[in-house]
Amino acid sequence: MVAGPCSAETREQVLEICTAIAKNQNVRMLRAGIWKPRTRPDSFEGLGEKALPWLVEAGKLTGLPTTTEVANKSHVEAALKAGIDILWIGARTTVNPFAVQEIADALQGTNMPVMIKNPINPDLQLWLGAFERFEKVGITDLTAIHRGFSVYKHDKYRNVPSWEIPIALKENRPNIPIICDPSHITGKRDLLLEVSQKALDLNFDGLMIETHPDPDNAWSDAAQQVTAEGLFAILDQLVVRTPDFSLDVASQIDDMREKVSILDDRLFDILSARMQISEEVGLLKRENNITILQQEHWTNIIVKRLEKADDLHLTQQFVRQLMDAIHQESIRHQTRIMNPKTKRNL
Ligand code: PEP
Ligand code: MN
Repeated sequence: MVAGPCSAETREQVLEICTAIAKNQNVRMLRAGIWKPRTRPDSFEGLGEKALPWLVEAGKLTGLPTTTEVANKSHVEAALKAGIDILWIGARTTVNPFAVQEIADALQGTNMPVMIKNPINPDLQLWLGAFERFEKVGITDLTAIHRGFSVYKHDKYRNVPSWEIPIALKENRPNIPIICDPSHITGKRDLLLEVSQKALDLNFDGLMIETHPDPDNAWSDAAQQVTAEGLFAILDQLVVRTPDFSLDVASQIDDMREKVSILDDRLFDILSARMQISEEVGLLKRENNITILQQEHWTNIIVKRLEKADDLHLTQQFVRQLMDAIHQESIRHQTRIMNPKTKRNL
């Protein structure tokens, strides 16, 4: 568990919140933002170098390692000089290979641990690339931080989690530990528990949660920060499950997975049969010179399916995505049937 304020505001604020949260055994690292990458220029942009000693002092007082965000070479130099233990790369920096390279070069020859937040846009390659840039200069103590992805307005999240991306990162780089930052995903303290639990259930290795002595009056990210008590309440309610299970449970799970696999086989057989019929329709369309897409027909199909979603205990979003995927595949089959020459020319 990494915790601490979004931004260091005063020496008292940093020491107060850090000593309070350090009382919980689960808190293993202290965070505080010193240089804040803010979207709009008139927001509080961090106090800079003068706040570094406060975080270092909090680390000494509590015996916990400290971490802060660095975005360029001079941040790195100042953080190393002040005695910060671990650095993190922010989401707005991970998107920029020049900046990541500059930071990696500044760290060459040190054995500084680095945590890398996902880029703000959902691009796995950029995230992977950032790890590679550090590895190439010999920095190998690396951790990933999942903090969600920017979208234009979202009902629920500040940054959508798109869990498939951190899961894909784990597939690509199974040895890189990954922690979740529910503070920046949710943007609201009420949702922290729900997202933290989800991360633990997906086998994440830890969490980073922003904490503040007086969250509502924080100079940055007020709505998402929690007090030390708020953090402890979340930690108390979190259920830590294990990916390992006993033989007995394993055999029950295997039985159920077998049933799932049989159903999946049927699903794919049905999809394949459905595409064959689509191809037959394609032949008829070709003979009669009809376009592939009949918009009205498709709209009707979607409306009918969405109406049934609730009864089937499926979300409308899932039904929509599934139908769109089936439709796209069906169009590909019909296109091939209807344009045999074009296909051959390709
Ligand atoms: C932060 O952790 O305070 C921060 C600015 O995060 P991100 O880079 O995820 O926006
Ligand atoms: Mn923040």
